[in-house]
Amino acid sequence: MFKQSRKMEQIPPYMFAEFARKKAEMIKAGVDVIDLGIGDPDLPTPEHIVEKLVEEARKPENSKYPSFIGHPAFRKAVAHFYKREFDVELDPDTEVLALIGSKEGIAHIVPTVLNPGDYCLIPDPGYPPYRMATYLAEANVQYMPLKKENQFKPIFTDIPQDILPLAKLMFLNYPGNPTASTVDLKFYEDAIAFARKHNIIIAQDSAYNMITFQNYKAPSVLQVEGAKEVAVEFGSLSKTYSMTGYRIGYVVGNKDVIKSLSVYKSNTDTGQFTPIQLAAAYALNGDQSCIGKHNTIYWERMKAMIEGLKAIDVEVEPPKGSFFIWAPTPKGYTSSEFASTVLEQTGVIITPGNAFGPSGEGYFRVSLSLPNDVLADAIDRIKKNIKLSKK
Ligand SMILES: *Cc1c(COP(=O)(O)O)cnc(C)c1O
Repeated sequence: MFKQSRKMEQIPPYMFAEFARKKAEMIKAGVDVIDLGIGDPDLPTPEHIVEKLVEEARKPENSKYPSFIGHPAFRKAVAHFYKREFDVELDPDTEVLALIGSKEGIAHIVPTVLNPGDYCLIPDPGYPPYRMATYLAEANVQYMPLKKENQFKPIFTDIPQDILPLAKLMFLNYPGNPTASTVDLKFYEDAIAFARKHNIIIAQDSAYNMITFQNYKAPSVLQVEGAKEVAVEFGSLSKTYSMTGYRIGYVVGNKDVIKSLSVYKSNTDTGQFTPIQLAAAYALNGDQSCIGKHNTIYWERMKAMIEGLKAIDVEVEPPKGSFFIWAPTPKGYTSSEFASTVLEQTGVIITPGNAFGPSGEGYFRVSLSLPNDVLADAIDRIKKNIKLSKK
């Protein structure tokens, strides 16, 4: 009889997979569900990128095994993107590695840096794969609480002194999921100085680096002098160009970490389909007007949702990045209680904040990656139907 490994016994089903299961049950029961839980762009992949994919898919030479470290054109395109957007120079051969979506690299960097028993410093609340990959590597999680009073930034000096010598890897994520918070270059300077002092590798997850508003431009951690000695940055085409299903991302920065990760990967996967890499290269270097257009749409949705939430006395500052709203639950409600109440009274799914870590308690996350009319319907239901009984 099958009995899964002890390691797997510790791993709950992926949070969003579990939510998808519950949602399917509700739809089956006849509920008209609106899912503000998923962070998957509704806006289509821009046409020129799709055309490039189709064109490359027709070439017989592209059906062969791809390059382990990524197609040279893709790696060059990433380097070019970094030069253009952040004025950061990258060697496409040693400082850029293609990933099958950045989640893949985020999961696999953990065992390349950490030994069992080491500590991984993880933003709390944060993207669930950071902690799951840490469990799978039999390393320990040390949460870095992200509090509103600190603009959802970790306080490095709060990391316990006895943990520090065993902490080898720190995840950062700005613009942040789920908190939608952003940072300036000064924050990264402090982070790099801290990492150098304590021999910690920084892995900054920049999945939302191009989804920004209010004239804010998200910096790259690699803009900090000396950052390449201790840092890598994960990037993704998923959100920027609405390419989640393509599964293409990259990691850039420290070449020893990248080398190690490429060895790990060459033993577990064989890279992404070449036409997808070439379409991604084209996305990074082609017409960028889609980004501004999409950001304008997200921003309009953001303002409408924030306005809608006021009707139930939920106040949020408009964020400068990501397509999420991270909001405090109304008085008297835990994250789970509020998410259940909203679901029961409106059929709208929101993500309870504690799903992203213990410090997410007392918050909920709303995603704006749904068509305008669906979002308007959700806002309408929230305004009209929610009756809060607790005080
Ligand atoms: C969406 C997301 C990613 C993963 O992106 P892929 O490249 O599609 O794997 C990584 N980090 C965060 C915080 C995200 O929200």
